Amino acid sequence: MVIIGGGMAGLTAATVLGRARRRVAVVDAGRPRNAPAEQVHGFPSRDGIAPGELLRACRSDLKRYDVEQVPGRVVRVDRDRTVELACGRTLQGRHVVCWLRG
Ligand SMILES: Cc1cc2nc3c(=O)[nH]c(=O)nc-3n(C[C@H](O)[C@H](O)[C@H](O)COP(=O)(O)OP(=O)(O)OC[C@H]3O[C@@H](n4cnc5c(N)ncnc54)[C@H](O)[C@@H]3O)c2cc1C
Repeated sequence: MVIIGGGMAGLTAATVLGRARRRVAVVDAGRPRNAPAEQVHGFPSRDGIAPGELLRACRSDLKRYDVEQVPGRVVRVDRDRTVELACGRTLQGRHVVCWLRG
């Protein structure tokens, strides 16, 4: 299973799939849209936390599961679910999860 994007959406998917004993790779380019914000609000139990701190906590939780965290930008996804990163590395999963636009 390859998840493209390691913001809150991708990390949530990775946590759920990791708990379900799936082997997961999360590829993330490290540019979450709320990076300019000083605090996150409306997230139960974490109201006021810095966005980066929340992501770090989520990534740390993933260490319990079979989830590989891959820094990098996906530049191409083929019909056979081969995922190509800008660095040239390729990943292949039975499923590719992606809801990013563009
Ligand atoms: C200024 C601001 C303040 C906000 N404040 C709040 C708040 O207080 N409370 C709240 O609930 N919501 C808030 N939001 C909304 C919240 O940030 C978004 O709902 C949330 O970040 C969406 O999560 P996401 O994972 O879909 O996207 P993102 O957080 O944008 O993460 C997407 C990730 O995918 C990566 N990515 C993109 N393309 C690729 C690619 N081709 N290959 C690899 N990786 C890729 C990006 O680099 C990024 O790390 C705020 C948004 C903004 C802009």
